[in-house]
Amino acid sequence: MQIPGHIDPVTTGTVPLRGGNRIDLIGLTRDAIGGVLVEAGLDTKAAKLRAKQIWHWMYHRGVTDFEAMTDIAKTMRPWLTDRFIIGRPTVREAQVSSDGTRKWLLAAADGQEYEMVFIPDADRGTLCVSSQVGCTLNCRFCHTGTMRLVRNLAAGEIVGQVMLARDELGEWPKGTMAGFGADPEDDDGVEEGGNYTADGRILTNIVMMGMGEPLYNFDEVKGALKIVMDGDGLALSRRRITLSTSGVVPMMARAGEEIGVNLAVSLHAVSKEVRDEIVPLNRKYGIDELLKACADYPGAGNSRRITFEYVMLKDKNDSDDDARELVRLIREYGLHAKVNLIPFNPWPGAMYECSTPERVRAFSNLIFKSGISAPVRTPRGRDIMAACGQLKSAATKPTRAELDRIAEEKQVALG
Ligand code: SAH
Ligand code: SF4
Repeated sequence: MQIPGHIDPVTTGTVPLRGGNRIDLIGLTRDAIGGVLVEAGLDTKAAKLRAKQIWHWMYHRGVTDFEAMTDIAKTMRPWLTDRFIIGRPTVREAQVSSDGTRKWLLAAADGQEYEMVFIPDADRGTLCVSSQVGCTLNCRFCHTGTMRLVRNLAAGEIVGQVMLARDELGEWPKGTMAGFGADPEDDDGVEEGGNYTADGRILTNIVMMGMGEPLYNFDEVKGALKIVMDGDGLALSRRRITLSTSGVVPMMARAGEEIGVNLAVSLHAVSKEVRDEIVPLNRKYGIDELLKACADYPGAGNSRRITFEYVMLKDKNDSDDDARELVRLIREYGLHAKVNLIPFNPWPGAMYECSTPERVRAFSNLIFKSGISAPVRTPRGRDIMAACGQLKSAATKPTRAELDRIAEEKQVALG
């Protein structure tokens, strides 16, 4: 899509089909599945019913084999298998941290690599999902920012991360589909009844906080999240999904209106000087514009507070004055916000250091005292480079001059 004032620094190209000539159904809307079934020769009515059945098997049960779709006629299953696939990203590497965090290096059909991370907690399990291979932007404290944008991920590749995580966590419902498939026009020898329950999920939350800037890949992210939220599929509530942006102001209202998930904003600094340096997108969309967009974010109110992410960088953005200014700004713009303090996670070649634990605590306390919640996020998965801002698909170590050149290129591309 055309992004106001934005030029993609790199052509993204087309992605070859994973299944050779077969069409991968992952990431298509229900209507689009109906559409490809019609193109393959089904009449509209049959296509609609089949699309509904296939959708349910794909997203409710995690089935990837048409032979397992027991309410579809036995004779029709090979017909589907010949024409379609239900794909998954390829797992190149899977790692488990000493704290239980899991990271997967994934490969797309064209060989491009991206990462996803699962963070288990006592009361929830959060999947951190990538939206791009590399990133358009170059926040100076972020490892992903040292990569060029290779390409946007397609909706199927984004929702595919959620599907794969559920495969790997072994949490697709067992049993048959109680109450589903009992369509009066369906005479295909349905297996019905069963013991499926949706309780006890492991993967309960999704954060669009992996590689990439989701609002520079709006349409595909929206398509993927619509599927994730669909009541007859993965059925995750929008309250359990958070999209994080570095501040792509022109896309924020649309994100609220058309996707409607929780918003997190990577603020990280309270003055133009510091934010220009560490989040260079600030030179295009400044703090004032960004906070106005937050105030206007559809649905932003007490019940749906915006989260401001704030990375704690030693002697850069972590003074008491910074904390006070942050509180002042939140009040000035009338924001119902909470602040998430993220201790800086190091990576090879990074120019910053993490603030001391005492400084982080003092910063947090100052904000809490003003009545605004400012918890410190416990770093997770640092030992496997899975923590915030550590993701990067190629384990190369570019020189400082190369990093500066990439930063310069990205800045020029942004205009
Ligand atoms: N591109 C989006 C989402 C991905 S990053 C964004 O920038 O918001 C998720 C969060 O981790 C962001 O707030 C990001 O600024 C932060 N982050 C990046 N690098 C980090 C690092 N090295 N240490 C701690 N947090 C980091
Ligand atoms: Fe991109 Fe987000 Fe990293 Fe900035 S912090 S470089 S927007 S992934």
